[in-house]
Amino acid sequence: MTFSYFNRPTIVQKFEKKQYDVVVIGGGITGAGIALDASLRGLKVALFEKHDFAYGTSSRSTKLIHGGLRYLKQLEFGLVKEVGSERAIVHKLAPHLVLAEKMLLPLSEGKGMGSFLTSVGLKLYDWLAGVKPEDQRRMLTRKQTLKREPLLKPDGIHGGGLYAEYRTDDARLTIEIIKTAAANGADILNYCEVVDFIYQDSKLVRVKVKDLLHDKVYEVRALSVVNAAGPWVDELRVMDKSKRGKQLHLTKGVHLVFPFEKLPVKQAIYFDVPDGRMIFAIPRGRITYVGTTDTDYKGNQEDVITSKEDALYLLEAVNEAFPSVKLGLSDIESSWAGLRPLIHEEGKSASELSRKDEIFISDSGLISMAGGKLTGYRKMAERAVNLVVNLNFSNRELQKCQTDKFKLSGGDFKNARQVKEYTKQLNIKLTAIGMADFTDYLVTNYGKQSDTILDYLSKINGKITHVELAKAELWFCVHHEMVVSVLDFFVRRTGILFFYMNRLPELVEPILNELKVYFNWSEERLAIERLKLEKATDEATLKN
Ligand SMILES: Cc1cc2nc3c(=O)[nH]c(=O)nc-3n(C[C@H](O)[C@H](O)[C@H](O)COP(=O)(O)OP(=O)(O)OC[C@H]3O[C@@H](n4cnc5c(N)ncnc54)[C@H](O)[C@@H]3O)c2cc1C
Repeated sequence: MTFSYFNRPTIVQKFEKKQYDVVVIGGGITGAGIALDASLRGLKVALFEKHDFAYGTSSRSTKLIHGGLRYLKQLEFGLVKEVGSERAIVHKLAPHLVLAEKMLLPLSEGKGMGSFLTSVGLKLYDWLAGVKPEDQRRMLTRKQTLKREPLLKPDGIHGGGLYAEYRTDDARLTIEIIKTAAANGADILNYCEVVDFIYQDSKLVRVKVKDLLHDKVYEVRALSVVNAAGPWVDELRVMDKSKRGKQLHLTKGVHLVFPFEKLPVKQAIYFDVPDGRMIFAIPRGRITYVGTTDTDYKGNQEDVITSKEDALYLLEAVNEAFPSVKLGLSDIESSWAGLRPLIHEEGKSASELSRKDEIFISDSGLISMAGGKLTGYRKMAERAVNLVVNLNFSNRELQKCQTDKFKLSGGDFKNARQVKEYTKQLNIKLTAIGMADFTDYLVTNYGKQSDTILDYLSKINGKITHVELAKAELWFCVHHEMVVSVLDFFVRRTGILFFYMNRLPELVEPILNELKVYFNWSEERLAIERLKLEKATDEATLKN
């Protein structure tokens, strides 16, 4: 059965009939990881996501699978070791989607940790993360640093460090984990909100789920329930009447996207900003994105957007570090804003809060997981599922955690070399139809699933343009990735709203029309979807 809206009725039927070992609430990276781990161990799993998969923080991060150099400063060695080691594992699971990327760390007079401490820190970072000798950090002279990044303000630069990180697409990583879990028996749906809990002898035994697409409510039986609702974790703890002790502290982080020619950095760079924080500038094809901010957030969690103030902060930081670029608000091509679901610590500012994950178990048995990183999703899932097993299924013969070896969908490559070989082959096919420019885009988004998209494309008569390509992608995403709305496609499956704004004007109407046909939408529904896209575009471009 494919992971498609058209199979929704079959999945809903299962929800009504089955008793699940684990019900996971939340289809971000945390919930996705837990659903995959639990299903691979042989547990019966259901996952509910109230928006689209990765709608929350998991489509709004810096999109790095990184060891978190800044956590060294906070002396969080355990966290650096865990997420640092995880990078190589996650890269192996999906080498087309998690790509090695060198990061430049310029060193400036009076800022950061200074050359000696940075050199030792990066060495420690490599050691903790088990980085291969050939990828270990290199310290650079002032001349080498400025040669690597000529845009840097030369005053005060006295050297630099070059170290290994990985880049990804957070929403695509989440959807591939979700699909892999579904292919391994988990029953998963988006647009299904857990609206209530049902108890027996004070123990949580069922969740009430509202199917937001069909306005129907049903009850799902669960032997254990994991709350992986990210910034909404505490809302569910309130529903469970168990929000006591530690609680969430939400901080907002914003990224701005510029056309590459406006900020032509030669490589990813992690630089100091005047207030003592550090931010990233990451080139990605035709754009460069910059982020992030880190400010306390108390607003509406359903509507987190980039404010002018956020944008001005980042613009000032970029213009200070790269004075020749002189960027202004009108240069912003797109943006995104997300919330970090961190654990509150008295007296600590947004930037000082730990990124460590924690688990809370309520008297009713609700297991809530908060904090953590995209990078650490696999280990977080392992901890959560270990706990579920120990608490509820210690008498069952179950598999051990297998997620360190289990390839994600689309990622059936042994290593980066095989990805290169596949890219070459795909490029030959795309060149033949005049679409060679899209080779890297397809491989990094879909991996080996690009073949399925190309098969579909080969059936289209006439000239192939990026519009036909997008239609073929849409067909794939509707039939294999549970897309049901225009933003699912433009934001979370393709990233077009962030990275390919130049394509959007020509794509909007053809994609809306295809969706109308697939889902038999009325004119009214079509207008609603068009409005949603306009609103999201205005927000991303700060025109709201
Ligand atoms: C600006 C920023 C930059 C970051 N950069 C990085 C980075 O580069 N690398 C890294 O490793 N980490 C990074 N992080 C951290 C990382 O993105 C988060 O830790 C991670 O995405 C959190 O995932 P999650 O699944 O816990 O939460 P979410 O992704 O928010 O998922 C929770 C989901 O639960 C759903 N939900 C809520 N309530 C219900 C309900 N009642 N019923 C059903 N579903 C519900 C929501 O709709 C949501 O989709 C960054 C975070 C931010 C904010």
